[in-house]
Amino acid sequence: MAKKILVKAEIDQNRCDRSPGCPARRACPTNAIVSDTQTETVFSYFGFGTKPNYSIEEDLCAGCGVCTARCPMGAITMR
Ligand code: SF4
Repeated sequence: MAKKILVKAEIDQNRCDRSPGCPARRACPTNAIVSDTQTETVFSYFGFGTKPNYSIEEDLCAGCGVCTARCPMGAITMR
């Protein structure tokens, strides 16, 4: 019997710019890209704000690869 290979998305935290409007997250059809509670306080023109830490909820990821095309930082790969 052949083994079933599961492909899931993975975020390179060193490349992710942690944009609050993450286009990859908005494009994910299963809402598998989630932000955790850890945030970094940053200062910008608009004052102090926070940046989310994104991660992939493996159980929700369908392995479609849409997010890899949408991430402008090239931070998401399939494994
Ligand atoms: S591979 Fe598809 S389902 Fe998985 S996180 Fe990316 S867009 Fe969402």
